[in-house]
Amino acid sequence: MASALDEPLRRLAAAIAHLTAIDEFFASVDQTYASNKKKLLDLGEAYRSFAQSMYFGSFDRHYQLSDILEYMLISRGSIWAMGADPQRRSAYMRIIFHTINQLLQQEHVTFFPDLRRKFMQFLESKNLQYYVEDDKYKKHYEEAKKFAGILTYEDHRRTYWALDHLLPKSVGTTIELVAYLYLLRNSGGYVVPLLLQQRLLGIRDHLLAPDYLLVVGRKVYGIEVEQLGDTGKVRQSNEFVSETGIPVLTASVPNTIPLRCCVCKRWILFCDAVIEKFCDISQPLGSDRIHCEGCNEEIYHGRLRPGDNEYHYHLRCVQNNDYVQNILVDPEQRQKRLIAYFPHLQGLERLVQPTQ
Ligand SMILES: [Zn+2]
Ligand SMILES: [Zn+2]
Repeated sequence: MASALDEPLRRLAAAIAHLTAIDEFFASVDQTYASNKKKLLDLGEAYRSFAQSMYFGSFDRHYQLSDILEYMLISRGSIWAMGADPQRRSAYMRIIFHTINQLLQQEHVTFFPDLRRKFMQFLESKNLQYYVEDDKYKKHYEEAKKFAGILTYEDHRRTYWALDHLLPKSVGTTIELVAYLYLLRNSGGYVVPLLLQQRLLGIRDHLLAPDYLLVVGRKVYGIEVEQLGDTGKVRQSNEFVSETGIPVLTASVPNTIPLRCCVCKRWILFCDAVIEKFCDISQPLGSDRIHCEGCNEEIYHGRLRPGDNEYHYHLRCVQNNDYVQNILVDPEQRQKRLIAYFPHLQGLERLVQPTQ
């Protein structure tokens, strides 16, 4: 079964094989070229660790994988998506939506032990070069493979990471792409993603850049998207502001994105109706959500019994519940309870008109 990025990934692999072939050819026919290659190797540890910064079989590989994915979607993608054709822009946003849905599905390996074991065995069967390179990582990797329950960051720290870092930063990348979609669709300006340029180098020091620059009404703003936990981003932003004079606004993705169904524990994906409406740029969105029934990923927001807290569920996971059935007899409740959310950012209300 092909995935959304199946062919782009194969073509990216072809581009890398192409660059490798160029290098091999010139090293074989040109003495000076070969001596340059030797000088690189003579850099020793510096050159080795530079090479390892592309891909290294240990913790933190998720950043490397996510950067490649974002290079495809955001760097190559924005060049591909430019121009005045609204169809192209719409197709671009669809590609990002389907990739987000797939990222969320990939993350299910943290929750379901069977899927996790099969996934790790599958990766092993691929004989990936440099797959596991460090003993400490290997220990936690093997623990993750054997573990029979839900792996979480809170309870299993390094063992969770050993698994989670095999993926392209699933939830983090999802949040970055949701923010990108929102800014592109709603800001009325030009979006400069700095996701791949987060370190701005000077000769003696560097600046940590915000996630995006937004150019709107002849002004430039930095947009920092909050992720969970203390990320030290406030200090980063302050340094960036004082060095560049560019104001940085902090935004956050609402806690309705992404949503995990409280019954089956799977992520709730962006449904076709949300994708359709969001990608049809001839119509304003008008709101951050829609009432949505009868599509491929229906959501119920509410209780399962009187007095419970309200949560989000796949409708298919709760539709046999008597309380839910009773609630949904009322058309007004159906309007209110069966909803789906657009990509959204909070905190930019003064800058962005949400109805655009
Ligand atoms: Zn569910
Ligand atoms: Zn829907």
